[in-house]
Amino acid sequence: MGDPRGFLKIKRQTSGYRPVEERINDYSEVETRLSDDDRRAQAARCMDCGVPFCHWACPVSNVMPEWQDRLFRGDWAGAWAILEDRNPFPEFTGRVCPALCEASCVLGANDEPVTIRQNELAVIERAFETGFLIPRPPKYRNGKKVAVVGAGPSGLSAAYYLNRAGFQVTLYEADRRPGGYLRYGIPDFKLDKSFIDRRIRLMEAEGVIFRNNTRIGTARYGFGAKYAAGSPEKTGGGSEEARILDPRDLESSFDLVLLTIGAREPRDLAIPGRELGGIVQALDFLSLQNRALAGETSGLEPITAYGKQVVVIGGGDTGADCVGTANRQGARKVTQIEVLPKPPEHRSDEEPWPLWPKVLKTSSSHLEGGERLWSVNTRAFTGDGGQSKALSCCRVDWINRDGRFVMTEIPGSGFEVPADLVLLAMGFTHVVQQGVVADLGLETDERGNVRTRGSFHTSNPKVWAAGDSRRGASLVVHAIADGRAAAEAIIRSL
Ligand SMILES: Cc1cc2nc3c(=O)[nH]c(=O)nc-3n(C[C@H](O)[C@H](O)[C@H](O)COP(=O)(O)OP(=O)(O)OC[C@H]3O[C@@H](n4cnc5c(N)ncnc54)[C@H](O)[C@@H]3O)c2cc1C
Ligand code: SF4
Repeated sequence: MGDPRGFLKIKRQTSGYRPVEERINDYSEVETRLSDDDRRAQAARCMDCGVPFCHWACPVSNVMPEWQDRLFRGDWAGAWAILEDRNPFPEFTGRVCPALCEASCVLGANDEPVTIRQNELAVIERAFETGFLIPRPPKYRNGKKVAVVGAGPSGLSAAYYLNRAGFQVTLYEADRRPGGYLRYGIPDFKLDKSFIDRRIRLMEAEGVIFRNNTRIGTARYGFGAKYAAGSPEKTGGGSEEARILDPRDLESSFDLVLLTIGAREPRDLAIPGRELGGIVQALDFLSLQNRALAGETSGLEPITAYGKQVVVIGGGDTGADCVGTANRQGARKVTQIEVLPKPPEHRSDEEPWPLWPKVLKTSSSHLEGGERLWSVNTRAFTGDGGQSKALSCCRVDWINRDGRFVMTEIPGSGFEVPADLVLLAMGFTHVVQQGVVADLGLETDERGNVRTRGSFHTSNPKVWAAGDSRRGASLVVHAIADGRAAAEAIIRSL
């Protein structure tokens, strides 16, 4: 522990954001950086408490006190070595993780927690800048071959660990470039895509084989597919078409197939008027913007918020990303609607420290403009000439009936919101079951995701699954942790 009194002397200081009037005009990352001295001072706030709950709360089990100490001492290489021992991609979690650790930081019990996420980002970026991160291919190959299907964070994490253990890993990705929702979901203003490319280059140099633009299975692979390269709905989606491979060929030519295809079936809204134009899934809107910035939209129909009255349905993170993107595109007005009540600003007694609290989240996008409405139900879309023009809504109450909260509409509370563009951001139900899951006849669980048993194997012992495809839609850090755990199980099994 660097400075035993650090937490008494130093206040929490976050990196902060670029000014709204500047950042709203571009898609560069909004978060800024602290100076090295300020960053090290933040690390000094770590108390090296006897029981580090941050470590318990972090899905990849980062060992914070140890690397905070190295960081405080200016030993960046030492901090990085400890960090990367548990987390293969701190440059992703350091940018987009909701920091489950910070909610459990012991300092947070009666003060503000350590800035763990931002400290993590500072350490990994320093490691890249100073060249600690060089390709480290395995010293020997064990002769075993694993096919990983889907290059989102879980597939990348599994490939990273399997490759290091000497397996020959081929990563098949249906989209043009690897990253999954890191690349074609999360906006550039939260995660610049050059950081994904930088990591992919390193993994390639270490021996992972990437086969992009290659879809495993016959049917469309799911959400975002409308605007994905080579999807049947929009063949081509640009210059190339995705190759289609039969999953049974993979089964016969690899020792094991690991599915990391995400949970990409979008939740829809079955209310009158849904068929009108201008009502689109949030992911189609968001992925198009990311593709536009990457120069990948030739031949795709644009969806733009420019000059429109935009309604985002869904109060979560994807909804917030839509708000930020719509504002950058020049929307006339943005309204975000959530059916659940407004969360409290502070922890409730039902969620005491060190549990993760469901509190009000205000993202950088919310600070850039727009209105947020809670406890609002959607009734119908109304249109003109086949295009959406308005959304009929009403206010609701949530009443506790024997421990279950039941929604009731408030009589006479109906109102309309102008809506030229409606973005459905209500999450994902489960893995896309058509295509590779059906082709291989895999069992699904009660939630509709790929059923895994024992460790990570599916109803077909040669096909395993990890990440959102088996857990359901979740977080980047969970996908990384699950990919690592699957790799460890594969290493033991093979
Ligand atoms: C808009 C948005 C914002 C988000 N923001 C955050 C955030 O800020 N923080 C956070 O922690 N989490 C966030 N998430 C959630 C997070 O991105 C996901 O939980 C995570 O990416 C899941 O990882 P995965 O590898 O399991 O699946 P995915 O990221 O979905 O990757 C699956 C990959 O498999 C490919 N694939 C699918 N089928 C096939 C096939 N048949 N053949 C070949 N390839 C296939 C897909 O193209 C994709 O590349 C966000 C999600 C979205 C949609
Ligand atoms: S990965 Fe997330 S939960 Fe884990 S230490 Fe980093 S910010 Fe915290």
